[in-house]
Amino acid sequence: MMSIAKKCDRCGKMYDQYNVKDSEANPNGIRLLNIDGRQQCFAHKLIDLCPDCMKQLQNWLKDSDMIATLPDNDIYDKCKTCQSKVKYQDGYESWSPKNIFEESYKDCEGLTFGIALEMAKNGVKVKRAGWNGKDQHIELATDISYKTASGNIVNVNHDAIGNKAIAFVGTSGVQLGWLASQADMLADDWMIVE
Ligand SMILES: [Zn+2]
Repeated sequence: MMSIAKKCDRCGKMYDQYNVKDSEANPNGIRLLNIDGRQQCFAHKLIDLCPDCMKQLQNWLKDSDMIATLPDNDIYDKCKTCQSKVKYQDGYESWSPKNIFEESYKDCEGLTFGIALEMAKNGVKVKRAGWNGKDQHIELATDISYKTASGNIVNVNHDAIGNKAIAFVGTSGVQLGWLASQADMLADDWMIVE
């Protein structure tokens, strides 16, 4: 079998390619990410690691169970049907393993207002931990129309925001055009509504 010479992006050493189709317990490179509150991420360039640098990385991770318990490669095929599709800045598209996506999703508590707002803009229902009313939350309302004083039906439209508003769903009903208070903006107790 022909071997491919690779150069380690960390130490610069040449090495024969290894673990190309091996399990994720035996990786041969890494990729750094910026992960957002929904576990979607921007991925940076691929980093090839020689066997020595990979070994050092795995020692650094110490808890190598972490790597060993990652799902098998075939999970990515299954995930093409789930909702956790990720499109990276460079046009590369990928899918998060569904079980990992859902686990992380449930862990999303203690979010800042900025993250909660970003999630709401992406169609996620969010609330503050202290909002105790049943199903009380905010969410993005779209396709809004209303009846004017003279009886015409108007579809809402605005140059900057289109046909959208934040709706507050509370114990008394739904209120369109919710505004955040100081406490809402500065609190770190925002969470996703399941
Ligand atoms: Zn190296």
